[in-house]
Amino acid sequence: MDHSGTVVIGGGIIGAYCAYELARAGESVVIVDPAPASGASTGNAGMLVPSYCLPMANPATLSAGLASLFSADSAVSFARPITADTLSWLARFVVASRPGRAVRVAPELVSMGARSIDAYERLAAREGIPLEVRRCGWLHAAETPAALRAHTKAANALRRLGVRMETLSGEAARERVQHLSETVVGAVHFPDDAAVDPTSACRAVLSAAAKHGARTVRALATGLIRDGDRVTAVRTDGGDIPAHAVVLAAGHRTTVLARRLGLGVPGIAPAQGWSLTLPADSGQAPDVALMSVDDHVVINATAGMVRLTGGMRFGGDPDEAPPQEVFDRLRATANRLVPSLSAITDDGQKFWGARPMTASGLPVTRRLLGNMVVAAGHGPLGMTLAPATAELAARLLQQTLTRSTR
Ligand SMILES: Cc1cc2nc3c(=O)[nH]c(=O)nc-3n(C[C@H](O)[C@H](O)[C@H](O)COP(=O)(O)OP(=O)(O)OC[C@H]3O[C@@H](n4cnc5c(N)ncnc54)[C@H](O)[C@@H]3O)c2cc1C
Repeated sequence: MDHSGTVVIGGGIIGAYCAYELARAGESVVIVDPAPASGASTGNAGMLVPSYCLPMANPATLSAGLASLFSADSAVSFARPITADTLSWLARFVVASRPGRAVRVAPELVSMGARSIDAYERLAAREGIPLEVRRCGWLHAAETPAALRAHTKAANALRRLGVRMETLSGEAARERVQHLSETVVGAVHFPDDAAVDPTSACRAVLSAAAKHGARTVRALATGLIRDGDRVTAVRTDGGDIPAHAVVLAAGHRTTVLARRLGLGVPGIAPAQGWSLTLPADSGQAPDVALMSVDDHVVINATAGMVRLTGGMRFGGDPDEAPPQEVFDRLRATANRLVPSLSAITDDGQKFWGARPMTASGLPVTRRLLGNMVVAAGHGPLGMTLAPATAELAARLLQQTLTRSTR
């Protein structure tokens, strides 16, 4: 009797959702991860944002990105010295930023993001698992007229990609969001965006997978045992796990791991990000998810807490603690935009982790071997795209499995 099942390498939001879809379809699933639900998938901003689906590789970000190479306080920074790996990633990013490409591919990502929000809600309802999706929209608040003008122009262009948006005066924004500062001169609101508490969401998806029989093995995948084009087992530091199919969803470690396994995956670079989570009650926190247009800081309040995120650093060691000043900057922006947050005296909980960035800004979900699929490289959009990605990965695997049993 064949006791092998589908092995999912990686228990972040992408691996968790793939495991859920496969287990729900009746597959026997094993998730292999030394520390499931602990990386970027838990420390992120928790935004489900079809509005943010224009790939970063576009002409506007390219010029801002190049400017940031020479600026000390840009939202995007590069660890010095810039390594050959970062330079090679940048070269591919420059090519992918050619005019016209991002707007051609964005509508599919926007649609995947919208479908994913519905899917999270369906999962919560179907499985009876607490996963609260707040359909609060996302309000981008500007404190300077110049930033508001530039942002409104960029947001207007998103309409052509299928993103709904509205512009608000400072006063209208304050009516919409409690505790918003008098310094806000205007805002762009994306009504179709939503927010979750990412830690609870990632754990909820893992629980839903477990409810359908998925097992989690706390181990590090170190190799594959193959029979030609097919994987027969995944080698881990805790022993070999028989596999009749494999999903590789190891986040920013996917390319390095794939190379070690002798497989080719487009370069996924780690872009370090950080967040600060503060305890906050409704007398302090905004009731709509916000972004500071001037400083690119995101403020997302969920039950009893507010999470601040912003900034991205390429190169260097993504596991190394960022300097205290990056957390101070998050807090300074949040206190300015939502003055009631200044009353919080707690130091908050710091997080840092890496976004898995492809140079093209597009995730990689495709077959790697006869019975192995990769699902990784979601950059700043992993929470937003996980359910739609899992649907695609499960479809690809099921096609493979059907073929092999014919
Ligand atoms: C500060 C910040 C803010 C963000 N905000 C948002 C947001 O608001 N909305 C949004 O959509 N996205 C956001 N993102 C991006 C999002 O967090 C990522 O795209 C997403 O978490 C990637 O999920 P993943 O499962 O691919 O990777 P991870 O969450 O990194 O999970 C990968 C897992 O693989 C495991 N693993 C690695 N190597 C091995 C191995 N050899 N064997 C077994 N397991 C292994 C790891 O332990 C890890 O648990 C943000 C990211 C950051 C850092």
